[in-house]
Amino acid sequence: MSESREGGCQCGEVRYRLESAPLALVVCHCTECQRQSGSAFGMSLIVPEQSFKLTAAKPKSFTRMADSGKTVECVFCENCGTRIYHNPAAMPGSVNIKPGTLDDTSWLSPNLHAWTQHRQPWVEVPEDIPSFDMQPGS
Ligand SMILES: [Zn+2]
Ligand SMILES: [Zn+2]
Repeated sequence: MSESREGGCQCGEVRYRLESAPLALVVCHCTECQRQSGSAFGMSLIVPEQSFKLTAAKPKSFTRMADSGKTVECVFCENCGTRIYHNPAAMPGSVNIKPGTLDDTSWLSPNLHAWTQHRQPWVEVPEDIPSFDMQPGS
């Protein structure tokens, strides 16, 4: 991926640019991701922090405690509420973009499924990529 990628919230107030290749795309079936997305799972596009640039309005954030016992800063548009990215204290130097906010999502291809113990039964996890019952590495 040489060109930059752009994305933003539903109302267009928050915009960002991704200036380098992402490190990984994780599909997470945990209950927090289901609640946050209001859907069956969440996706996290893990990118180096220095390659992620906000280009329009500064979003709002709140901080919650993750299962790891470390904090996660959750960043969203103040106007429309779209979640833009997460900044977990457990992963210094990277941020997790919510990749459904990218203008072009056609290139996204998950590398890993996490927390499949909470997977909704109709969601099929492909067998050719790694999947974990819980948090990978825990
Ligand atoms: Zn917005
Ligand atoms: Zn999750």
